[in-house]
Amino acid sequence: MKISPQDLERDFYAVLGVEKSATAKEIKRAYRKLAQEYHPDKHPGDSAAEEKFKEISYAYDILGDEEKRSDYDEGRKLMAGGGFRFGPGGQGSAGFGGGGFPGGIRLEDLGGFASFFDMGGGMGGSSQRGPRRGRDVETSLTLGFADALKGVTTTITTRTEAKCASCNGTGAEPGTLPVQCPRCYGSGSETETQGGFGFVRACTQCGGSGQIIEHPCAGCGGSGIQVRPRNIKVRIPAGVEDGQTIRLKGKGAAGARGGPAGDLYVKVKVAPHPIFGRKGADLTITVPVTFTELALGANIRVPTMEEPVTIKIPAGTRSGRTFKVRGKGAPKKRGGQGDLLVKVDVVIPQKLKAREKALLEEFAELHDESPRVRLDEYMKD
Ligand SMILES: [Zn+2]
Ligand SMILES: [Zn+2]
Repeated sequence: MKISPQDLERDFYAVLGVEKSATAKEIKRAYRKLAQEYHPDKHPGDSAAEEKFKEISYAYDILGDEEKRSDYDEGRKLMAGGGFRFGPGGQGSAGFGGGGFPGGIRLEDLGGFASFFDMGGGMGGSSQRGPRRGRDVETSLTLGFADALKGVTTTITTRTEAKCASCNGTGAEPGTLPVQCPRCYGSGSETETQGGFGFVRACTQCGGSGQIIEHPCAGCGGSGIQVRPRNIKVRIPAGVEDGQTIRLKGKGAAGARGGPAGDLYVKVKVAPHPIFGRKGADLTITVPVTFTELALGANIRVPTMEEPVTIKIPAGTRSGRTFKVRGKGAPKKRGGQGDLLVKVDVVIPQKLKAREKALLEEFAELHDESPRVRLDEYMKD
């Protein structure tokens, strides 16, 4: 049997009349005493007693089992903390059938209670005074072309809610500490009994934090939070692309009252390079060549981000052809390196010396192969 959301709404400790901190022995003793008291054999025909007996047995089924009890305790703590809640106002099970959460998410889908930490109170309304997750913060960072390829560790300054520097986020005046809430004994939740069932709600004295601050910190007024500039060390992975956003978990604004920090989203801008372009993990370069280099073939020196390489251009290469230099691109996310794509582009001389002109004219006369055969055919019709 798994702990269901309905189970979390009930206070089994209250059912058995024990403290939350009760030992396994104390729980067993309390159960035995109540079970004897309400045993159906003692109350023939009394359906109220029978219901009570069933409830006692159910409560003991959970609290009497170490693993179920710890699951139950953890779920209750999260629920009281405002991470999620069931039904209106966090109490009552009305309109809440089939073991589902509002929105149709089932506990099983979330892989257990630990998931609720990750969800950071995004589900349902969070209680006004309970722990609250810090907000996500967005910032941008401009990197040089080469730095984006290599990856960098840099410092970003953001002005956000941060843990108060004087009380280190406790909200209590330095030298003092928050004390356990006397109403809920630090659990943050309290039980309201309705029709023999215990329903849980956030503690009305501490608001669900489980703690009371007797001497609020002067630096933050007891909130534990200050808005101030923070320097955050950021490691940008090698091969980051222009426009990519990097998420730094827990580096956003500080949470309130023990809630987790939000995330920091860093949008990366990569400065253009004067020579190289980039297409994902490939770098691109356009290399100007002469007509004769393509016609006769040539060896051409081409720069890369590292050492230059020599590309062999075969005779008869058409203009616009792309050559691939393997492994001279950007680092790929999953290891390896992209390529350098070298595109050759014919440049026509703007001025010709007399001799050059004469030779070209001679070439033109000799070269009677039209490059427009297909177009000529087309125009014949
Ligand atoms: Zn403070
Ligand atoms: Zn309390």
